Amino acid sequence: MDFREASLRERKLYYHEEWNERDVPEFIIERIMEREFAFDHDGKGYNDRYKGFDTLSQFSDFLIKNFPYAVCTSVSYYSKPKNREDWKGAELVFDIDAKDLVVKTCECKEGNVCEKCLSEAKEIVLKIKDTLIGDLGVKRLYLVYSGRGYHLRVVDNDVLPLERRSEVLEYVTGSKRPKDLFLSHGYPAVYRKMFILTFNKMNEKDLPFSKNIIDLILSEKKTIISKLKTRHFDFLDIKGIGDKTKNDLLGHIEKINGSLVDGKVTVDVKRILRLPSTLHSKVSMKCVEIKNIENFDPLKQAVPKFVSERKD
Ligand SMILES: [Zn+2]
Repeated sequence: MDFREASLRERKLYYHEEWNERDVPEFIIERIMEREFAFDHDGKGYNDRYKGFDTLSQFSDFLIKNFPYAVCTSVSYYSKPKNREDWKGAELVFDIDAKDLVVKTCECKEGNVCEKCLSEAKEIVLKIKDTLIGDLGVKRLYLVYSGRGYHLRVVDNDVLPLERRSEVLEYVTGSKRPKDLFLSHGYPAVYRKMFILTFNKMNEKDLPFSKNIIDLILSEKKTIISKLKTRHFDFLDIKGIGDKTKNDLLGHIEKINGSLVDGKVTVDVKRILRLPSTLHSKVSMKCVEIKNIENFDPLKQAVPKFVSERKD
């Protein structure tokens, strides 16, 4: 798959022949008048901001006329979106970008993505989704393929005014040590689940210890994971590994888990996020709402037609 930038001609082709207003998610359309829209027309940034549209067809006309490089909407609702006045709440969002994952098993260079790390990003999204629904009782949750990763967007009414968003972030990513790591349910279970997810992918380059310590830890990887799954207190008892190393290992993984989601996006209620149905021109992929995450394959469902028609 070739993640090269879309040309002006390709953007025009996309918005004139492939884009369909039916692909704009319902959760956007239902309060479209209250959202701020932002456009990047030339790949230099979102310079055209504070736009508002009263109807979907008005927005549709704008897209067909301008075929922008990128399109975002606010996660917030405002009475007057053009002035960002009278804030009426914001979606709770989680942004998981495959290019920013610290631990991944592929060979991607910094800033790049491939099929493998995109699928690792999807795995993280699924875990967070389960926690939001199972532990935090979230009901209206939408998944979006962003073009290079995933967005999780919660629009439950009681979540919209939420202030302490960073605490939810810590909870779902398992980035803070629980008081009792071995409780069967609740946060400790989330912490263990996220620890295992990250630890399982780690190899030498991901561990900040000396070579022999790393070898010891990695040779016991399977045992550590299976013991943690069955809540054995001695899951990190390895001959030759002291308390400091154990503590450092936990801290190291907590830090990595804290970076699985772009925290700035979650806590900032003034954020704008890429709009599903529009083109991520930098990588020539579509940003799409995902109806069925289990079967979702971005390389099948998020590649615009013009990519397969490229001749060179
Ligand atoms: Zn990769």
